[in-house]
Amino acid sequence: MEAFEYNASAARVIFGSGTVSRLCDEVARQKLTAPLLLSTPEQVGQVKQLKVLLQGKVAGIFSGATMHTPSAITEKALAYVELTKADAVISIGGGSTIGLGKAISIRTGLPHICIPTTYAGSEMTPILGETQDGKKTTRSDPKILPGTVIYDVDLTMTLPVGMSATSGVNAIAHAVEALYSRNANPIISLLAIEGIKQLSTSLPKIVTSPSDLVSRQSALYGAWLCGTCLGAVGMSLHHKLCHTLGGSFNMPHAETHTIILPHALAYNAPALPEVMKSLAGALPDSDGDAIVGLNRLLQSLKVKRGLKDLGFKEEQIDLAAQIAVGNPYWNPRPVEIGPIRELLRRAWAGEDAR
Ligand code: NAD
Repeated sequence: MEAFEYNASAARVIFGSGTVSRLCDEVARQKLTAPLLLSTPEQVGQVKQLKVLLQGKVAGIFSGATMHTPSAITEKALAYVELTKADAVISIGGGSTIGLGKAISIRTGLPHICIPTTYAGSEMTPILGETQDGKKTTRSDPKILPGTVIYDVDLTMTLPVGMSATSGVNAIAHAVEALYSRNANPIISLLAIEGIKQLSTSLPKIVTSPSDLVSRQSALYGAWLCGTCLGAVGMSLHHKLCHTLGGSFNMPHAETHTIILPHALAYNAPALPEVMKSLAGALPDSDGDAIVGLNRLLQSLKVKRGLKDLGFKEEQIDLAAQIAVGNPYWNPRPVEIGPIRELLRRAWAGEDAR
């Protein structure tokens, strides 16, 4: 075995069904008296239930979280933190709400309890992406990692089928890139393979039967493992392409990850014979070929396959390719403009990866 480095995440995790009822104990355990509850406008119902659970003992509710953590929203939330003298933040939602929790926590030093309701994995990472004047910047700091995460599968039952599918593939993408990360290590690779297995078997069942508790549980568990991978090792081509498409072209996060993943993997495949073998073993119905397995998985999830279906224009491909290769980063195969342009063209057109 080659020498490696492994940094364990320090978060405390509570996982199961009905676990949100443990929030009261958790707040008491940390001696918190006035947590500020965070959500998007769409999840006001769930955040109000948290307030009831905490018997109204909260600093308040801020329901303005939105995609890409815009600084203007963070400023508003910070003013509310000050006004209400909050002593913690509790985020309930997906990566957008958790992003706001991280943005507040890193600026104020307040503890952050996360209750994730999608499969995006932000709760397991020390990474924060923020947007100002239309520009998204990302930073990493161990202090950004939320201290406590409560996974309650019951709260994911309302995640719409389409969002469940794309959010789940977003999680799979973290694990896929962890397998060929520059700082890949055997511990994280174990989590990555298990995360991919859990999600790739449960997501098709969720699509046909969204209230199947066992599949929902397996997907959330897989999402936790995949989020841990994202937080532990560096990502490459796939995440950089999605960052470009999200940050510079405002493409939706999970849907974009879903479309790009098989193409990014096909691009890197010639440099990764061993990883491709393990991946093929982790994906059901792959016939020994990871790209075939991914293409079939996406087909079974009935997700959009073309960037053109998300409003991305063919004439934007050149600019996206230039931005994606303009900022050099490590990747197992050299990142070259011609092949990247062709990758984006195929993804735009919705062709199968190969
Ligand atoms: P999201 O948080 O934007 O949620 C999408 C929509 O689904 C929102 O309206 C939300 O309220 C709703 N929703 C969430 N859970 C629901 C549920 N259980 N039932 C009903 N509705 C629900 O989506 P996301 O994909 O989780 O997060 C995307 C954002 O997170 C992006 O900004 C992305 O950059 C960021 N992200 C960051 C990291 C990181 O490590 N920093 C990791 C992954 C994603």
